[in-house]
Amino acid sequence: MLNIDLRKIYLFQPVEPAPDPASLPAAGDLYYECLECTTVLNSVPHIKCACPCGNLSGGGGQMKVMKPERVRVVRGKLK
Ligand SMILES: [Zn+2]
Repeated sequence: MLNIDLRKIYLFQPVEPAPDPASLPAAGDLYYECLECTTVLNSVPHIKCACPCGNLSGGGGQMKVMKPERVRVVRGKLK
């Protein structure tokens, strides 16, 4: 499990307008912020990852979201 605070590396800006929780977009520069535990994870995770509360879990290029309405889609730019 990789536990890096991505906020130290990237600047995140919310995607506007907020995407429909029923079909969250996924891309290399898009990240999901879990609103339950504030963890930010890439929407296309190549390495196995999960947020502490279990809302987000992924790996192999796929992110599984338990509560999509509790996710904010943000775009990350390297600082
Ligand atoms: Zn979480």
